[in-house]
Amino acid sequence: MPTFPAAVESRLPGVGTTIFTVMSRLAQECGAINLSQGFPDFNAEDILFERVAHWMRAGHNQYAPLAGCLALREAVAAKVAALYGTVYDVEAEITITAGATQALFTAVTALVHPGDEAIVFEPVYDAYAPAIELAGGTVVRLRLAAPDYRPDWAAVAAAITPRTRLIMINTPHNPTATVWQRDDLDQLAELTRGTAIVVVADEVYEHIVFDGAAHASCAAHPELAARSLVVSSFGKTYHITGWKVGYVLGPRALMAEFRKVHQFNVFTVNTPVQLALADYLAEPARHLGLAAFYQAKRDFFRDALAGSRFTLLPARGTYFQLARYEAISALPDTAFCEYLTREVGVAAIPLSAFFADGRDERVIRFCFAKNEATLAAACERLRRV
Ligand code: PMP
Ligand code: GLN
Repeated sequence: MPTFPAAVESRLPGVGTTIFTVMSRLAQECGAINLSQGFPDFNAEDILFERVAHWMRAGHNQYAPLAGCLALREAVAAKVAALYGTVYDVEAEITITAGATQALFTAVTALVHPGDEAIVFEPVYDAYAPAIELAGGTVVRLRLAAPDYRPDWAAVAAAITPRTRLIMINTPHNPTATVWQRDDLDQLAELTRGTAIVVVADEVYEHIVFDGAAHASCAAHPELAARSLVVSSFGKTYHITGWKVGYVLGPRALMAEFRKVHQFNVFTVNTPVQLALADYLAEPARHLGLAAFYQAKRDFFRDALAGSRFTLLPARGTYFQLARYEAISALPDTAFCEYLTREVGVAAIPLSAFFADGRDERVIRFCFAKNEATLAAACERLRRV
């Protein structure tokens, strides 16, 4: 291969490969149990695969409509109306996306102008800031402070300026496993009232909230729903992260802008999978049962680590568990995760990856979306360190 004849001027000079890819690769190289990148090690139900095959064989293999297959938009609208009491118009207010990542990127690209400010909360999911920067926006980072990682609403009020275009929120929260309350949404509504600020609400873990708590969705908050793009992902809900299908909800004026970009960065998402998901969504028990399913895994994992020297933080939602390790090691969190992967045989994610300045709270993240046998084997190793 000949070399490119000039220096490549990067549009993301500070960005390397995402920590999820880095740690999954290291886990594979070392033959470690991979509790780093968030994905299940168990399969979805056969019936879902049968529906995909059915729609493929029935000839549904050409482009779906730009907004997504009508059957899937209808199924999403019905689910959202049942859960959150808000009726989104299937023609103008729901779009099927190639996963949540694309939905978030498209939302930011559609809304952020050069010089605009976008508020995010650190520790922050790694996809948000690069999207804002590529759009020419300024990332305004607010801190969710340990140990309970709650938003500081006075700090949000102080950070809002006439240039604030977006506030990006995530509940249930990756990586801290915290869950916002209705009261948080009320505060957000109050602070944005009378402004043109758009809320981008990453709710990919909407069905994974524990201990009987309810998910506080922006879709369920009429005032916020009117200024929000709400993002979800079938990857999380149906154990199919590799399928990369999600959706976004929003009022028609926002969705019109979203679709202007969506039509040129993906146009539309694969057809037979959408039709299969529409069939699968018809049974609400499949998403309503998810909280209990993952709560059992959370409890199993936490119980199995009870005899270890890790200190477990509360885990109220998502399929992640944060842990402190200061009783075990004085290493920085990235070095500790490398040590765990190489020497102990269990991969995890350093929390510092979610801070722009690499802030190290000596906390790491485990993913417990695994079979009990996997969790048991991992915990057996983790109890020995
Ligand atoms: N947002 C958050 C908070 C996530 O954890 C993830 C992936 N785990 C995504 C977005 C991306 O979802 P998808 O795989 O559907 O792109
Ligand atoms: N969201 C997943 C996590 O937090 C990873 C997705 C990805 O690898 N981009 O682990």
